[in-house]
Amino acid sequence: MNNEQNKTTYTCPMHSEVKQDAPGRCPKCGMNLVVADADTAENEHSHKSHGGCCG
Ligand SMILES: [Zn+2]
Repeated sequence: MNNEQNKTTYTCPMHSEVKQDAPGRCPKCGMNLVVADADTAENEHSHKSHGGCCG
């Protein structure tokens, strides 16, 4: 089942800290935001504890 939605994240090529879920312009430099890699966004999202900290 495809329960997980593919969220598209937009970021500024010059400012990676600028992120939003809709296309637009960077508030810092005014450049058009580009689609960020889903992998990057997912990496930040899925950060659940895997158990076993100090083996
Ligand atoms: Zn920018």
